[in-house]
Amino acid sequence: MKGYLIDMDGVIYHGSRLIAGAEEFIRRLQASNTPFLFLTNNSERSAKDLAIKLGHLGMNVSWKNFYTAAHCTADFLVRQRPRCSAYVIGEGGLLLALQEHGIAFDAIRPDFVVVGEGRTINFEMAEKAVRFIQQGAVLVGTNPDTWCPTDSGPRPGTGALVALLEAATGKKAYYLGKPNPFMFLMARQKLGLHTHETIMIGDTMDTDIKGAVEIGIQAYLVLTGSTSPDDLPDYAYSPTRVLGSIADLNSESGSTLMATA
Ligand SMILES: [Mg+2]
Repeated sequence: MKGYLIDMDGVIYHGSRLIAGAEEFIRRLQASNTPFLFLTNNSERSAKDLAIKLGHLGMNVSWKNFYTAAHCTADFLVRQRPRCSAYVIGEGGLLLALQEHGIAFDAIRPDFVVVGEGRTINFEMAEKAVRFIQQGAVLVGTNPDTWCPTDSGPRPGTGALVALLEAATGKKAYYLGKPNPFMFLMARQKLGLHTHETIMIGDTMDTDIKGAVEIGIQAYLVLTGSTSPDDLPDYAYSPTRVLGSIADLNSESGSTLMATA
């Protein structure tokens, strides 16, 4: 058996444009019943929202093929502190994932302040969050990314919003999402695969490749996103393989790519 964890931005699309060969690659996985999950640090959208978005771009996948930093955060918090509550600065995907795991939204005395990707933060929310943290709530970020790519350019990411709360409170946040090995562990378990059967495909060294290397799965770096080959010597870890793009995998023999030889 073999299965794939696949980052989204920079691997299968740029903003609202599919990368050449990505759709074919996914179709091949589906046709051969090869297990795969899209693994994204963006906690803004739910799995169903993401499936609709990919559908509009011309890629048909089930919502069951997504594992986001929002799911990862909810999976983690509910295991660490069952029946916890959270004050949330984030969007629908995060609120929904927490609710589905039985984590209530709490603007009175939350156990956690959870910050995710999105555009909802305002000064009043930041002020509330600071006061909850000073009263003992633990600060958690769904992902450490300090910026987030959009069609019109970068915007501040979860890590930047969390930094604001860290500066105001003097407390350090705990981050879920890639490269936290918990994200990779949960995703691998969802695929039902062993470590040696699991391959991560990503474009970012600090998240996709770092987490995959740390948990011991194979890490394929694609050069269609945030990394250039000149960057590689700066890192203590290396990808298992470096690919020009995800399309390179389409030209490999069926037995290499697919679940059953
Ligand atoms: Mg990416």
